[in-house]
Amino acid sequence: MKAFLISSLLGLATAVSNSSSIGLPADISSTKGASCACKRLSHTSKDVISPNNANYTTQAADKYWDVRADLSPACIFLPSSADEVSKAISIFGSCNAQFAVRGGGHMNYPGSNNIDGGVLLALEKLNDVQVHKDTVEVGPGLTWYDLYSSLEPHGRVAIGGRLKTIGVPGLTLIGGFHYFNNKYGFAMDNVVSYDIVLGNGTQVKASKSHHADLFWALKGGANNYGIVTKFTLRTFDVPKISTTIQVYNESGIPDFLQAVCDMALLDEKDPIAAGMVATVQYNATTKTPSASLLGVQEGISRPPSQFANFSAIPATTRMNNVTTMKQWATNLDSPKQMFRVMFSHKTMKPDPEVLVSIYKAWKDAVDEISDVEGLYPTFVTNVVSAGAARVALTNDVGNVWGLEDSPLILWQFSTGWALAQDDLRIKAWSQQLAENLHAINVEKGIASEFVYMGDAGEWQNPYAGFPKENVARMREIRSSYDPQGTFSRLNWGGFKLGF
Ligand SMILES: Cc1cc2nc3c(=O)[nH]c(=O)nc-3n(C[C@H](O)[C@H](O)[C@H](O)COP(=O)(O)OP(=O)(O)OC[C@H]3O[C@@H](n4cnc5c(N)ncnc54)[C@H](O)[C@@H]3O)c2cc1C
Repeated sequence: MKAFLISSLLGLATAVSNSSSIGLPADISSTKGASCACKRLSHTSKDVISPNNANYTTQAADKYWDVRADLSPACIFLPSSADEVSKAISIFGSCNAQFAVRGGGHMNYPGSNNIDGGVLLALEKLNDVQVHKDTVEVGPGLTWYDLYSSLEPHGRVAIGGRLKTIGVPGLTLIGGFHYFNNKYGFAMDNVVSYDIVLGNGTQVKASKSHHADLFWALKGGANNYGIVTKFTLRTFDVPKISTTIQVYNESGIPDFLQAVCDMALLDEKDPIAAGMVATVQYNATTKTPSASLLGVQEGISRPPSQFANFSAIPATTRMNNVTTMKQWATNLDSPKQMFRVMFSHKTMKPDPEVLVSIYKAWKDAVDEISDVEGLYPTFVTNVVSAGAARVALTNDVGNVWGLEDSPLILWQFSTGWALAQDDLRIKAWSQQLAENLHAINVEKGIASEFVYMGDAGEWQNPYAGFPKENVARMREIRSSYDPQGTFSRLNWGGFKLGF
């Protein structure tokens, strides 16, 4: 069971371990700011790891999901408190040191969460959890599995990652697709407050009533404002979930993609929380595609009613179960350091015919790169239902995405491969294919410019798909909370807001 789940979700059927860095050759002693910061951090804490330390490789490479994200920081600091984060940020400012921040380490491209020759701040020791009646306080060092485990005895769930080892902070700061978005909105919509260290080292709490502008900007605004040292998240009473795992062969794929569109279009007055991971895999050697559904619904109705359209498709595997979110997540591992991976994603209105044509074009294009060593191509879909978007439209807070309550399909190519020599080829292939197919959708009038940072490739600019006024407001808020530009000048990370 475990092997099936891993491969169907992540395209990890073939483990290709390669921990070499593809970053620029790092002369780690050459960065004056970093060596100043490393020295000063070492005077204040024992938790500073330098390249000659035995734990260095574990921290600089092994904790990253994508082999490409392994880099060579000048030193790595593991703060144990918000005060230590604050001290570190002040040191980075006064040393003018470049730095990166890592939560769960799942963002996949080089420089998104690691750095050559700068300081890496690894947050794993900030791992407190405090469960309250209908909220939970969470440190950014936790994975979603850690959190679901803490909530299980209380019969509660939070809206977070669908896989076990994704980090709480990265996913929450970019939005957060979970199974229950249709009823409760995205992870960001369920943050009650953020404890955050700003660019000058000051610690503030942003909530609906304090620093409300920053509170809004953090809902999808990624790592542009500071380092979050605690998230307070709303939780929901969901002691049990009903799950379904289904696998279809090639002939079922058109109906599978139709059912994905149906799911996006579902807009009930009193919705049942339900969602999925829906993926097509293609073995380019045997020329065999297959599709898989991992569906989850709140409650104990078995099989889960919201997946009836999927259940009507002849399947090669169909397993229904009633379990808990923690137990379900137990099997959904996303092991680190297995692949180089390129993401490319675009968005469209639900249109089954077009979605099938995109899948077919992707499959044909994969055949053109079938000689690439360790190739593992997957075609992934995510849905935004009207209900999911409506939460932010009606909660008096909103989020930076500014989506209307009309359904969307996010389609993504997630392509794994083995060798650095194929990096450029895969990137060009993936980008060009996505752009060409999106251009067709633009002509048809069914494209959306929304791009989700969690599914996007490093070549994409998600902010271009946000409403222009939201981006302008995000920049204003950044200017007022980070006037010295710590998070735009010194901090490397995924999807910076730009100027
Ligand atoms: C296998 C896989 C499965 C995924 N599944 C899902 C899914 O189900 N739903 C979904 O929405 N997304 C999913 N994603 C996308 C995922 O949400 C993002 O990659 C997310 O950034 C991961 O969070 P992290 O903490 O692990 O990331 P990291 O790589 O550690 O961090 C991501 C970014 O956030 C910054 N950051 C981290 N912590 C902080 C902090 N405390 N304060 C400020 N900035 C910080 C980092 O510097 C980095 O730029 C998936 C990705 C992968 C690779």
